[in-house]
Amino acid sequence: MMFKLARHILSASILVSSMQSAHAQDQRSLSVVATASMIADMAKNITGDLLDVKTVVPIGGDPHIYEPTPGDAKMIADADLILKNGLTFEGWLNELIEFSGTKANVITVTEGIEPIESQFYKNATDPHAWMDVSKGMTYVRNIKTAIQQLDPEHSPIYERNYEIYMQKLQELDTYIMNRIQEIPMEKRVLITSHDAFQYYGKRYGIRLESVLGTSTDADVQTADIIRLNKVIKESGVPALFIESTINPKILEQLAADNHVSIGGKLYADSIGGEDSPAPSYFDMLKHNTDVIVTALTAPITYQDHKAQNSGNTLYLYAFLGILLVLFLIILIVKFSR
Ligand SMILES: [Zn+2]
Repeated sequence: MMFKLARHILSASILVSSMQSAHAQDQRSLSVVATASMIADMAKNITGDLLDVKTVVPIGGDPHIYEPTPGDAKMIADADLILKNGLTFEGWLNELIEFSGTKANVITVTEGIEPIESQFYKNATDPHAWMDVSKGMTYVRNIKTAIQQLDPEHSPIYERNYEIYMQKLQELDTYIMNRIQEIPMEKRVLITSHDAFQYYGKRYGIRLESVLGTSTDADVQTADIIRLNKVIKESGVPALFIESTINPKILEQLAADNHVSIGGKLYADSIGGEDSPAPSYFDMLKHNTDVIVTALTAPITYQDHKAQNSGNTLYLYAFLGILLVLFLIILIVKFSR
């Protein structure tokens, strides 16, 4: 692995840079490093411009299978506070922390959250707790406390930012709850690439089915495809959903095979870029909800198509009927002479 090869070269340069940064300590603002983009966005809502907030896994990257770069080791080494999700999300982090030699406090932002067991792997927890906004609010509370401990001088500002942000998240939680109710009960089935929506489904009342498990580092099994074909047929859902961080090929094939549509792109393991519809944690959950509700309340394209076909058949029978009647009239006229 390139990462391991770079290790020795880098330890030397980190030593030099940490000596330099000791001098520069007073001038620079404190550095908060989050593993994933949604956690960094939550932190920015608390810090405003007062602290420097960075992300290890870039926007659009997949945190499950991320391979840290030498630049990440430098970022972690220079950090004053590290925010991680935990719950078996960042398998690469311990090695990176150890290698960087960082002295930063490492905070698990899911502290206090009752995790869902992974349905695909024994003895593993489902890391995607941020998909439930009420649990996302626990993340924000943990982040706020950690930031206040890091920079007590600005504590009242962080407290005020926290209160404003929590109010916004409370409203989002209610919004999602109400919107999911718009979907007819039997169609509240969310079919996606990987199992990232269990917390979302449990909170807002929608059933989940996915091609892959709670991580993305596995191969697709034939049994999973058979299971999903069955779910699509039985539930009559009009749409399946692709994810921003995962190759959409299998989902597109499933949709084509079952004559249903792709309802849109969901953001699960990363927020979107500045020009995307989901540039923040708040926008990511609102956008996902709007996409899901729009697609699952739409008519099934396949059935419309079928209805149109049966309409065409009807015209054909009517045309043949008229021909038969004309033929009979000709016969009657001919024989009545
Ligand atoms: Zn995931």
